[in-house]
Amino acid sequence: MRRFKIDGRAINQNSAVITGSDANHIVNVLRLKAGGRVVLFDGAGREYAAVIAEIRRAEVRLSIEARRRCQVESPLQLTVAQGFLKDKKMDTLIRQLTELGIRRWIPYFGARSVPRPDTQRLAKRMNRWRKIADEALKQCRRAQSPKIETAADFSEMLRLSDAAAVKLIFWEAETSAFPEGNRVAQREHPDVFIILGPEGGLTAEEIHQARQAGFQPVSLGPRILRAETASVAAITLAQYLFGDLGRGRPSDP
Ligand code: SAM
Repeated sequence: MRRFKIDGRAINQNSAVITGSDANHIVNVLRLKAGGRVVLFDGAGREYAAVIAEIRRAEVRLSIEARRRCQVESPLQLTVAQGFLKDKKMDTLIRQLTELGIRRWIPYFGARSVPRPDTQRLAKRMNRWRKIADEALKQCRRAQSPKIETAADFSEMLRLSDAAAVKLIFWEAETSAFPEGNRVAQREHPDVFIILGPEGGLTAEEIHQARQAGFQPVSLGPRILRAETASVAAITLAQYLFGDLGRGRPSDP
């Protein structure tokens, strides 16, 4: 069933209104009619089964039939701090990591990251990532948008990890393996904070700072992975060991 993000404020008791590009998409691209069924989600974890009640030129009025908390959110509170990558790689990554269920994303500038774009370009890119993440929610049927933090320096990013129960930094020069399931199983869905380096990798000084902040450096095996591959592999492993990957999928609402 088609899914649309809706501002919670556009929902009034048992009715909702969709306007703008989504209304245009419903009317002119999907050509849905009154009586058509859709799922609405609010980006904060709630979703609604809705029926189109009326279509006007610029708005679609819906009646809400059922509401519930989204069933596919990972119980894992997973934050990923990603060293800033070149070109469109960050766009691809935020899509993939949203699908994999991350809760928070912190782009950071490390010693070997690409240079920091100016404030205006950075703000544009952050808006773009938010849009991409919301698009990814439709694909994977989540209802909660990941929180995308303002790009930080390495040390600022470390300070954002204070509340995390498990802190891992993936370092290409590390030989210790990813924590084993039995060590992790003792903790019921902890807050996990994961750091991945940029294309240029992480410096020994950054690893030292991360250790001081309570991070454990870990390896992803003997091969050096591209930064994007490493992020997807690390998050997949984290969801498998600490979260819900490997469980079945609940049925559609
Ligand atoms: N430029 C570095 C080099 O040639 O050694 C490689 C950096 S790698 C492309 C980018 C990031 O991916 C690393 O900083 C790390 O976070 C992660 N990564 C890649 N391969 C890894 C591995 N085998 N173990 C742990 N982390 C890895």
